[in-house]
Amino acid sequence: SRSNVQGFLKRNLFVLLTVAAVALGVILGFALRPHNLSLREIKYFAFPGELLMRMLQMLVLPLIVSSLVTGISSLDSKASGKMGMRAVVYYMVTTLLAVFIGIMIVIIIRPGKGSRDSPINQSGKIEPVQAADAFLDLIRNMFPPNLVEACFKQYKTTYKKVVHTRNVTLNLTDILNVTESPLSVNLSSLLHTIQVEDEVYLFQFETVEETVPVSGSSAGVNALGLVVFSMGFGLVIGSMKQQGQPLRDFFDCLNEAIMRLVAIIIWYAPVGILFLIAGKIVEMKDLAEMGSQLGMYTVSVIVGLLIHGLFVLPLLFFLVTRRNPYSFIGGLLQALITALGTSSSSATLPITFRCLEENNHVDKRVTRFVLPVGATINMDGTALYEAVAAIFIAQVNDMDLNFGQILTISITATAASIGAAGIPQAGLVTMVIVLTSVGLPTEDITLIIAVDWFLDRLRTTTNVLGDSLGAGIVEHLSRRELQDQDAEVHSSVIEE
Ligand code: ASP
Repeated sequence: SRSNVQGFLKRNLFVLLTVAAVALGVILGFALRPHNLSLREIKYFAFPGELLMRMLQMLVLPLIVSSLVTGISSLDSKASGKMGMRAVVYYMVTTLLAVFIGIMIVIIIRPGKGSRDSPINQSGKIEPVQAADAFLDLIRNMFPPNLVEACFKQYKTTYKKVVHTRNVTLNLTDILNVTESPLSVNLSSLLHTIQVEDEVYLFQFETVEETVPVSGSSAGVNALGLVVFSMGFGLVIGSMKQQGQPLRDFFDCLNEAIMRLVAIIIWYAPVGILFLIAGKIVEMKDLAEMGSQLGMYTVSVIVGLLIHGLFVLPLLFFLVTRRNPYSFIGGLLQALITALGTSSSSATLPITFRCLEENNHVDKRVTRFVLPVGATINMDGTALYEAVAAIFIAQVNDMDLNFGQILTISITATAASIGAAGIPQAGLVTMVIVLTSVGLPTEDITLIIAVDWFLDRLRTTTNVLGDSLGAGIVEHLSRRELQDQDAEVHSSVIEE
């Protein structure tokens, strides 16, 4: 049995190291808290964690492009179409389920009941966003005019106040019942009147102030744009048959090389995670400062995420694949812990790839296709959180939401989760879309900022879990196409 133990240790070395890193990080963090480190000292202390973030992020761009291009170009267009449909249906269904769970929980727990705990502090300045402009931005970002720029900038509407004059014409005959000559009416205050037959008109200029959307950009990879481009590119290369082979080989090789880098960086991951977690614990505010409303809000989000991640998604996985979802999740532990440590599903992507391919043996044609898309648009945890937060803010403001408004929140929370980039606290920014859509005050986002760093980690973990179980489900549903494709490749090899 000694060799059994050894075998177990060897197989699970990384998972064990990662779990140990989390435990050590928590211990170290709490041990250092009483020392009241300055922010600068905390920054230095957390440096090894920052390095992990940077290394992972370094791989994301080439990983997204190379995996999507190879994944899609290695399938025929019918197979990739079917696989894509299945993935999209899975994303939609699970995101809506997550939103539904969030809404039920926040309505049952009612974390925002009673009058507000604290006056809103207006210090965090929230930019106004119109829901319509945010929707347009989402679509604009799908089609980046400049691919190089898309690697570091996103399109984002900003606003400008403009004052201009507008000419208004009033029909005074209707308004004042003027039937006689305009001179008999006291029009001294009016600018200019004119009589046309029996009707008296007034011309007036009024100044109006308007906020108009103007184009702007914000820092950060436009992952969505790169995903859309890579998918199109992959489809086209796939349709080029023999002629497309050099590009297929190129991206395939690029992908392989990136994954080898991942295999190296993964050795460093436990160290990075240890310091990411310890650093955050040293830095966090005293939990005692948290009002009861905020505490209950945090509990609502956590309960919702747990129900979704531990019951609903696994049940769905079981119903579709008839496999044990929890042993599948066991293979994902490292990715889940990395998500917890980095609070970025896009930085976690390299590890997610590795867990699914190496531990769970999911077909590479599936992971390469669905994981980059999932990490970019499929965010169950974020959608759930957005719905809970919006309804919490409504409760705090004593605003009763009707069914239509709750429906609006469901739809905009889904859109906001699609639009959120897979980076830390992106969901907090896209919250404004949800709030404005039902007329809730956007400055109330400041109410929930204090706990967002923590909820962000949990929702990111849920996001990564959703993407990974989705890859397993899509693989199962696509097994026929994958076999057909294998047979085709096999017969063409024999022909040659
Ligand atoms: N941090 C999350 C993620 O990367 C997005 C969010 O803020 O909800 O998945």
